[in-house]
Amino acid sequence: MEAKIKELLNDLETLKKKLSDPSQLQLVDKMRSCGENISALTMPGPLRRPIIKDMSTEVVDSNPYSRLMALQRMGIVENYERIREFSVAIIGIGGVGSVAAEMLTRCGIGRLLLYDYDKVELANMNRLFFRPEQVGMTKTDAAVQTLSEINPDVVLESYTLNITTVDGFETFISSLQNKSFCVYKEGSGVDLVLSCVDNYEARMVVNQACNELNQIWMESGVSENAVSGHIQLLIPGETACFACVPPLVVASGIDERTLKREGVCAASLPTTMGVIAGLLVQNTLKYLLKFGQVSPYLGYNALKDYFPTMAMKPNVQCSNPACLERQREYILAKPARDAAAKAMAEEESKVAESPIHAENEWNISVLGDSELGGANAQSSGLLPEGVVHELPSADDFPTHPASETTGGPADDDLDELRKQLDALNAN
Ligand SMILES: [Zn+2]
Repeated sequence: MEAKIKELLNDLETLKKKLSDPSQLQLVDKMRSCGENISALTMPGPLRRPIIKDMSTEVVDSNPYSRLMALQRMGIVENYERIREFSVAIIGIGGVGSVAAEMLTRCGIGRLLLYDYDKVELANMNRLFFRPEQVGMTKTDAAVQTLSEINPDVVLESYTLNITTVDGFETFISSLQNKSFCVYKEGSGVDLVLSCVDNYEARMVVNQACNELNQIWMESGVSENAVSGHIQLLIPGETACFACVPPLVVASGIDERTLKREGVCAASLPTTMGVIAGLLVQNTLKYLLKFGQVSPYLGYNALKDYFPTMAMKPNVQCSNPACLERQREYILAKPARDAAAKAMAEEESKVAESPIHAENEWNISVLGDSELGGANAQSSGLLPEGVVHELPSADDFPTHPASETTGGPADDDLDELRKQLDALNAN
């Protein structure tokens, strides 16, 4: 097929040289252009599935969402399809961020905003996600290439910029505020920000942006020796922000950049980064789709397989003014929050009073204790006909005579022992 098209294009080129009439030349050019388009279509390339308009619960091999929608049928998630309404921003498309982006893409997230200024290098190949042929591409563009092939339903935005620069920060803030994807959404234009950066400076920038925008975010990190990591949920005003509890090295006034030694690079393992990315996205799904409990802080020690958890309240002396502003707002909103919690508790108690299973397909009935004559009857000494107790019941055990009388067998034994001891001492 490919060779025949090439032959046709060559013939058209030869024909063109022999013609002089402009209208005929135009016609040949048109035919050549058509031939080139057909040639491009026959070239091998990634096979893309068509965009799917609605998530279906249909259990067929061709449905990419059947296993995810099954979460609804299993009663884990109330409405899985809501995932398509959510926007998540991922800052840092490295060992954790790229894997988190792939997981959210495979879960069918509505929109992903990807931020990174770096390019793909061969040194990144010990981690997951990026491929050797992507070396030299920006991480965000390479990510968009792979992710759009995996799931073309996800809206992907690539921001190749450094958020710690003045221009980068401005673009970062304005992109988070863009509501064009979901115009009726309250707050900023994204539902959650995931920080997957590898340095304190960038974390402080994400912290600043989220405190300013009152944006809930999750922080993640992996240690330089690659054997521990953590994730943390940050709700401005409600939980500690990143500046509330600075790392010891920063609190001590040491410049982070002076810690980096020339020629010495941090270690990284695809396993640890995969675990942290998994914990981060697991908690993202729980937060967005409202199931289970979202961890306020979850650590991971790979050497001992230890997962510590804790919660941190905001610091009233935090150095970040936007954090203090959010803390004031949170305290002022307490009466409204309490009233809402009370109303919800009342609603839940009403639900609890109503029958759990209105339909009784299997005709299961619950008998009262008096009708049963089973476990309860046993404790009262009544047994079904023909059944007797093997051992006396607790109430029937005789009390120990020694505890009630003096001079019993126990005292005799003691006297005998004393006599033997005296005889030994006399020797
Ligand atoms: Zn703070």
